[in-house]
Amino acid sequence: MRLILLGPPGAGKGTQAQRLVHKHGIIQLSTGEMLRAAVAAQTPVGLQAKDIMASGSLVPDEIVIGIISDRLDQPDMKNGFILDGFPRTVPQAQALDDLLKKKHMKLDAVVELRVNESALLSRVETRVAEMRARGEDVRIDDTPEVLSKRLASYRSLTEPLIHYYSERRKLLTVDGMMTIEHVTREINRILGAIEAVDEAKAAKKSSRKLSRPVGKKAGKGAKVAEKATKSTRKAAKTASKGAKRSSVKAPKKAAKKATRGSRGRSAAGSRKAAKKVTKKRAKA
Ligand code: ADP
Repeated sequence: MRLILLGPPGAGKGTQAQRLVHKHGIIQLSTGEMLRAAVAAQTPVGLQAKDIMASGSLVPDEIVIGIISDRLDQPDMKNGFILDGFPRTVPQAQALDDLLKKKHMKLDAVVELRVNESALLSRVETRVAEMRARGEDVRIDDTPEVLSKRLASYRSLTEPLIHYYSERRKLLTVDGMMTIEHVTREINRILGAIEAVDEAKAAKKSSRKLSRPVGKKAGKGAKVAEKATKSTRKAAKTASKGAKRSSVKAPKKAAKKATRGSRGRSAAGSRKAAKKVTKKRAKA
């Protein structure tokens, strides 16, 4: 699985990413964490990023793109990854598209955690209090002033990615206001549906290959594959039934309904008009 988690600071990306890591055996790539490590280790990148991060602004695109590109080349990426905090701008998203293409990797989905802005400050305050209680270092950018700057940068630079990925049919929106457990369950349900659909596609592809008329044996193989495709497709259908509701397909469905409604109305209108004409003719 190759995923992106999208959402404002405090949306719960880190929490959900960790859970996905456990369930799917994939690696979490958090640019925030990587940059904080670079700052702590005082590497050249860390020295460059330190003040920018403390002020709540974004580190230049070329730095984060470079970090991610190097990381994607590591052998532990083969099972998949979950990007948290990257991409954060449209140019970063375009750079990621290019990187993945070059590395022959396909992005499976972008999961957007949608939350009410009014809840974010108190969530971050809770996070700070919990870290203090555990005796951990508190992030210097977790103050109300810097948070409002991070939020403003999310709105202007990162939010356009919702449109970017929805246009590319990659976006899945989950209500991030539910409990942590609920959000996890919802994400897993949606990802299960995507996996099932992909499996069905793969089975269909292989059945097509096998069904090429190359003698008796090939025909038999094709039948077996066809059978497998049917059952996988069925599983995909069942799994995606619920997921469709929260995915980008929902507006499509609504649009269809609306079209159907308007079509119905115009048909009824013309029937009425036709009746009037017939009556008039009868009178005449
Ligand atoms: P949050 O999402 O909670 O705001 P992160 O831990 O993801 O925090 O990031 C902390 C800081 O690291 C950001 O405010 C920014 O300065 C820097 N940063 C992280 N990811 C990126 C990125 N993709 N592009 C630019 N800057 C980034």
